[in-house]
Amino acid sequence: MELNQLTIHELHELITKREVSSTQIVQSVFKRIETVEKDIHSYVTLMKERAFAAAADADKRIREGDITPMTGIPVALKDVLCTKGIRTTCGSRILHNYIPPYDATVVEKLKAAGAVFTGKVNMDEFAMGSSTETSCFGITRNPWDLKRIPGGSSGGSAAAVAADECIASLGSDTGGSIRQPAALCGVVGMKPTYGRVSRFGLVAFASSLDQIGPFTKDVEDCAIMMNVIAGYDSRDSTSVPLDVPDYTAFLSRGIDGWTVGIPREYFIEGIDPEVMEAMKSTIAVIEGLGAKCVEISLPHTGYCLAVYYIIAPAEASSNLARYDGVKYGFRAGDGRDLLEMYKKTRSAGFGAEVKRRIMIGTYALSSGYYDAYYKKASQVRGLIKGDFEKAFTQCDVILTPTSPTPAFTIGEKMDDPLQMYLSDIFTISANLAGIPGISVPCGFTRRGLPIGAQFLAGHFEEGKLIQMASAYEKNANLEKRRPNL
Ligand code: GLN
Repeated sequence: MELNQLTIHELHELITKREVSSTQIVQSVFKRIETVEKDIHSYVTLMKERAFAAAADADKRIREGDITPMTGIPVALKDVLCTKGIRTTCGSRILHNYIPPYDATVVEKLKAAGAVFTGKVNMDEFAMGSSTETSCFGITRNPWDLKRIPGGSSGGSAAAVAADECIASLGSDTGGSIRQPAALCGVVGMKPTYGRVSRFGLVAFASSLDQIGPFTKDVEDCAIMMNVIAGYDSRDSTSVPLDVPDYTAFLSRGIDGWTVGIPREYFIEGIDPEVMEAMKSTIAVIEGLGAKCVEISLPHTGYCLAVYYIIAPAEASSNLARYDGVKYGFRAGDGRDLLEMYKKTRSAGFGAEVKRRIMIGTYALSSGYYDAYYKKASQVRGLIKGDFEKAFTQCDVILTPTSPTPAFTIGEKMDDPLQMYLSDIFTISANLAGIPGISVPCGFTRRGLPIGAQFLAGHFEEGKLIQMASAYEKNANLEKRRPNL
């Protein structure tokens, strides 16, 4: 095994025993990047020089015995997270030359914990999408099948971990953008509770839905990353001042006596038969561990997609108003007057999907339509949240497929936005309700494409998700495979 193939906890052990240095790990990661990046294209910006400097720094700390579980570990960052002095593009032409003057809180926290950043990874433009096909830097390919998409919008984050081009990464999830690509690339991805992880320095898409979370090779690594990034931040007014438990303490507790809810509304027509089969095996494993699986109902599920595609574009249209060619980012020529400059800049700076969202959102918020769309959607959102509150009085966690299908082929859904939106049908509800969710690998299709299972829990119950996912992962007996690159 090469060092770049190991997990955070495996590398940490080697580091602690002084058997490997951070520099050696970083070397192994960049060697891998040199070999496979031409096929995968996970990265938008590589931070090679800085990474080696940070690794040398980490090695010094290691020699001094100042070691955290993240010291010297190479991590990739979705290009929606502000990094001081390093361009942060959101996959958009309008920000292609934007260099933030500050670090996002999660970046600061990882840095303080001794992590080494390998670079910024690709994403759908402004995190709008499910396939990483709308970035102005081009597509990212799925390491398991180069003809297929890695999922999205955090496709670069998922592909980089799956292809061992980093040890772990961060992404953002507004409607499924961590969990869906994690499922499609065969890695673990967690969307924390809204308010659990600071959004300071996360470029906003839909502020009431966005959350940052980790992509890792296993559940233990997910717990380690959560220990670093979770917690209150006075610079994010929606961050919640609650203590952060040690998430690694939930790892080996088992789920004997638990009740797992299986929502009837999530096992519907249109799910790929192989995904359905994998869900049945997942249920069997869980029951074998002493948990009871019971059917539950989330009656307003049918409204989730419609509600999301009012609320998310409405918030996006307002958040993206700041990209006007004046304050920062790209400016298209100088028009005859200010208005013409705005028009030219925004026409040339944004891609088609982003423009579609801005138009839908502006319409939904406009005078005379606000009550019919945004207000109504917000009311239904309350009902969706209520469904989950009720469900969690009957069960500890909920199990669903993460995505209705495995990775689809490049280009397959680009001309049909509705088909693309349907890819998030099982993940969107957690963002609307603000609850945490995790996707863990639960098998492969016959063609060798990964499948993911999603677990959902009540607000701030990330520990339960780790407990559940870790018990499942340890006992599922899944074949250990790596993409053949
Ligand atoms: N695919 C969904 C969308 O396009 C969710 C994206 C996300 O979670 N950032 O809006």
